[in-house]
Amino acid sequence: MNARTRAAVMSGLMMLAWTAHAAPQAATQTATQAKPEDTEVWKPEPRRVTPALPTRAPSDAIVLFDGKGLGEWVSAAAPDKPAAWTVADGAFSVRAGSGDIETRRAFLDYQLHLEWRAPSTLRGRGQERGNSGVFLASTGMGTGYEIQVLDCAEHTSTYANGQAASLYKQHIPLVNACAAPGEWQAYDIIWTAPRFKADGSLQSPAYVTALHNGVLVQHHVALRGETMYIGLPSYRKHGPAPIRLQDHGDPVSFRNIWVRPLN
Ligand code: MG
Repeated sequence: MNARTRAAVMSGLMMLAWTAHAAPQAATQTATQAKPEDTEVWKPEPRRVTPALPTRAPSDAIVLFDGKGLGEWVSAAAPDKPAAWTVADGAFSVRAGSGDIETRRAFLDYQLHLEWRAPSTLRGRGQERGNSGVFLASTGMGTGYEIQVLDCAEHTSTYANGQAASLYKQHIPLVNACAAPGEWQAYDIIWTAPRFKADGSLQSPAYVTALHNGVLVQHHVALRGETMYIGLPSYRKHGPAPIRLQDHGDPVSFRNIWVRPLN
């Protein structure tokens, strides 16, 4: 037995001796002193919320569209002007050429639910198949952080990081959970806004978790900056911001939109 082996054997014997001595005492202490209620937490109680149903927002949500009017929305280009999209049959649709619309209110972190529908008659390919988008923070004309809205039943006709439920040109969805064009689809999104230092530099990036039709498609992904069509994303300092919907020229429809601010 060399020195190293002897040391290992001695170490093992000491451990056995310690275990034989200590284990019964520890077990006795656990049985006699610790109680289940030692690890129970009773206060504060979570606030009571009436849960969402397919046609009803949870009780603490801000309803952004209830099927009637666009009072919570304005023109993104001219926020003092009303949103000019078309409301009909409990939904509203992009009026091509009228421009993006955005919420009247600004938000920091939030949970968002919305439902969208690509037109059932689609003739184009790729990015021309029912293109719209949800800018999770609208930071100015044409800028922000877009989660793509697009028919993806024919997902092979466009680039993966630009298909539905992608964080456009930054994160490919984990799976393709698309329904057929003409069918209603749901996004449930958790948005954590980026934070900036006083000098404008980034303190922490934006994070997104998203479910598409109840299926996880983005799992707490960090964004590299605002969405860019050409070039690489980057951050510019901003605070709470509206949520914006994109007019990409296709008559995409939306309904049942609500948001729960998390701050
Ligand atoms: Mg788009």
